[in-house]
Amino acid sequence: MLKPTICLLFPLLLKLASTAQIISNTPILTHKQVPILCYHQIRNWKAKDRQIDKDYIIPPAAFRAQMKMLADSGYHTILPDELYDYLITGKTLPSKPVMITFDDTNEDQYAVARPELAKYHFKAVYFIVTGHIGTHKWYMDHEQIKQLSDEGNMIGCHTLSHGNFKNLKGAAWETEVSLPKKQLEEITGKPVNYFAFPYGYWNVKGLPELYKRGFKAAFQLDQPRDLKYPIMTIRRIVACGYWNPETLDHHIKHDFGHPLKQL
Ligand SMILES: [Zn+2]
Repeated sequence: MLKPTICLLFPLLLKLASTAQIISNTPILTHKQVPILCYHQIRNWKAKDRQIDKDYIIPPAAFRAQMKMLADSGYHTILPDELYDYLITGKTLPSKPVMITFDDTNEDQYAVARPELAKYHFKAVYFIVTGHIGTHKWYMDHEQIKQLSDEGNMIGCHTLSHGNFKNLKGAAWETEVSLPKKQLEEITGKPVNYFAFPYGYWNVKGLPELYKRGFKAAFQLDQPRDLKYPIMTIRRIVACGYWNPETLDHHIKHDFGHPLKQL
């Protein structure tokens, strides 16, 4: 009699377990989302740049105007540790919080963005592709990354080779996720607890690997968060190169939804 009962109960237990997990995530899901901006290249457009490229390439003057708008409007930059404490324990954030993130290790993030952010005492997150470090003048080297970290910015992991997270399996978890984390910890002398998905691509199946490999939270782009793993699917928006400061302000105010609403 016992066996069939367990068989009957099993799907129910599974459902209860997953409901319990979602309930335990409720504090994370009920907090208002913090606007998080994602930047890539900061340079003037070239004739060959297509419209779609311009999402990811912001001219320096436009970047400066966006940063000035944030400062003039009273936004305060926060870093992932503050966001984590807010989401997990409800710790208070400064008024008008925003997070600025940079992906892919581009050197202009050091040369152009760094002095601009310093003007306003803004801090940012730099998600580094370790396979890019120092390989070309387009990319930052070890010293630049160390300096950004020493100056109070956060260094995060963006894999070894910018591969698609959905395709990671077997030994690739070690080479693409664990080893880059370790390498960045050696460069900065600090723990590297945060991860950004290349291209914003992620799948639920891979998310437990991030916990297993010591990450506290992960950042995607603008898909709805996963209800079971909201902390591993934190949303960001790409701040497009052709947005004027007012457009950026509009997106900050409207793209990060309300409690329990996914978008
Ligand atoms: Zn990237």
